[in-house]
Amino acid sequence: MSNKKGKPANKIQDLQFFGEFGGVNPSIADSSTFTYLAGKTMGDVFEGTQEGCYLYSRHTNPSTSYLGQAIANMEYTKGAILSASGMGAITTTLLQLCSTGDEIISSRTIYGGTYAFMKNYLPKFNIKTTFVNTTKLEEIENAITEKTKVIYCETMSNPLLEVSDINAIAEVAKKHGIKFVVDNTFTPMIFSPSKMGADVVIHSLTKFINGTSDTVGGVVCSDEEFIASMIDVNSGSAMLLGPTMDAVRAASILKNIRTLHLRMKKHSENAQYLSEKFQADNLRVIYPGLENHPQHEMMKNSMNDGFGFGGMFVIDTKTKENANALMEEMQNNNLGYLAVSLGFYKTLFSAPGLSTSSEIPEDERDTMGLSDGLVRISIGLDNDIERTYNTMVDCMKKVGIL
Ligand code: PLP
Repeated sequence: MSNKKGKPANKIQDLQFFGEFGGVNPSIADSSTFTYLAGKTMGDVFEGTQEGCYLYSRHTNPSTSYLGQAIANMEYTKGAILSASGMGAITTTLLQLCSTGDEIISSRTIYGGTYAFMKNYLPKFNIKTTFVNTTKLEEIENAITEKTKVIYCETMSNPLLEVSDINAIAEVAKKHGIKFVVDNTFTPMIFSPSKMGADVVIHSLTKFINGTSDTVGGVVCSDEEFIASMIDVNSGSAMLLGPTMDAVRAASILKNIRTLHLRMKKHSENAQYLSEKFQADNLRVIYPGLENHPQHEMMKNSMNDGFGFGGMFVIDTKTKENANALMEEMQNNNLGYLAVSLGFYKTLFSAPGLSTSSEIPEDERDTMGLSDGLVRISIGLDNDIERTYNTMVDCMKKVGIL
């Protein structure tokens, strides 16, 4: 294994923030703006010659800084900037890195919103994206032109759970002087993309990191220079487009991230158990923890030890009618919710072809194997997973899948 056991979790555990009155949680900086004792200091902050002062919460706020520091620690980066959603993190990053005429090479199996942004929105600025299979290095290399500014992928793609070889892609990116941006939303703790050579690591905090499905949020992790460029008062995409996270939300996410390591272990343990069981029942199951997953060995050799292969798995029910019937039956049997998103204590399931990936045109979905019968399952923190399995089997029998 490339990393010592549990390292990213230690980096959060070791943080010690005190509240204003010695509280064990940092005080919440419930202010949009901050006072200055001297007018000159304020002028210097705007000029960029004075650092370390809070100015205005669209720029920085102590509460978002605490959370940023925790996530930067976990991701082994020097800096991080919070945003009000994962899409806020993704869009501002790409707009900061790319100018008109530039090109992006992206994985073709990414979250539908990211895909739609690249495919439909960025062309307004004359920024073109080439979509490739990022698990095939030669497809990336063949797509590189002198205009390529960014290579973009998710560690584990949504929803097909293809795992990209971050170490290998980072080498290609470095060789060509291209920035490598990785969305680590599905695999916090499990992968540390920055250690593997990624320049920017993004999360939708909405998912595992927050874990309570009560807010949307996002983060961009990178070196100090890039983070500073994003909040530059004159030219920073985060500062000027303004997808800012609120201080109160940042404080609540900071409390939740402290249990992320325990949750990831349990999500992974449950997903591994169910995937093995359903595969033995002759269902087509996609889960990177299964030995027949095409990137199983590569993932095993490059992930952090101790957090498993993640909490997401996919079952192929063959048709959209089966998928809908199964999900309705599972919800009626209190197995979880028919809802998009992931990383909740209770199981969430959706049919990506009919929901989160419907932005991807049908013929392209067919080429990548994203059929309407796939049910994506974000397994919950179920204590008795054998009971969950038995209830799922009953549901499958009832709708004729088993
Ligand atoms: N990245 C991935 C992998 C996602 O699954 C999602 C949302 O589902 C996003 C980014 C976007 O995040 P948000 O919904 O917080 O804007």
